[in-house]
Amino acid sequence: MKKMNPRSGRDSVALGKFGGLDIYKLISDPVEISKKAALFEDENEGFRNFIQAQDAQMVDDRVASILPKVEEGIDCTACGACCRELMINVTEDEIEHISKVLHQDSRSFKEAHIEQSTSGEVMVMNTIPCHFLADSKCSVYENRFTECREFPHLHKPNLSGRMFGTLMHYGRCPIIYNVIEILKNELNFITEKKD
Ligand code: SF4
Ligand code: SF4
Repeated sequence: MKKMNPRSGRDSVALGKFGGLDIYKLISDPVEISKKAALFEDENEGFRNFIQAQDAQMVDDRVASILPKVEEGIDCTACGACCRELMINVTEDEIEHISKVLHQDSRSFKEAHIEQSTSGEVMVMNTIPCHFLADSKCSVYENRFTECREFPHLHKPNLSGRMFGTLMHYGRCPIIYNVIEILKNELNFITEKKD
């Protein structure tokens, strides 16, 4: 059964309950997610304030229970949006490691693929999309960088304090989109309809 949020007039993602658990329809189409992100911009700002007023541990516990279900239903290899659109930070150790894997010396690797801040403290991949993305798949997946492994950072504590950064990627990352929409649903977040 599809539920309708009575006050915003918007479909929620909850389909119903099975064995006491909510069953959700996940959305993975990037065009649809991008359109909804534009539509829900104000709502998300309200949700950010709402989340920040909640108990931070309760929010993290909810996310911890939602995230595995969403990750199971979203195929990152069919998406690759973060690899196509984000700047990837890398460390000296990671450069050493990936250079060995690719049978290159780290200096040549850096010259070809890395941009450094003037102080040399920050290093990023020098291409967006990432040089290692091939057909929406990572060609060095087993050896990808920590930043790649950790995005979209929803497994980390204190989501309440990181809502701004998380919502920046809401319209791009289907995992974030679905987790946030399910969270809105589970926490009974309802926005006032503006006349
Ligand atoms: S290294 Fe792989 S996972 Fe990381 S951004 Fe590049 S393609 Fe994506
Ligand atoms: S982490 Fe998000 S943006 Fe990156 S590939 Fe997976 S679903 Fe797409």
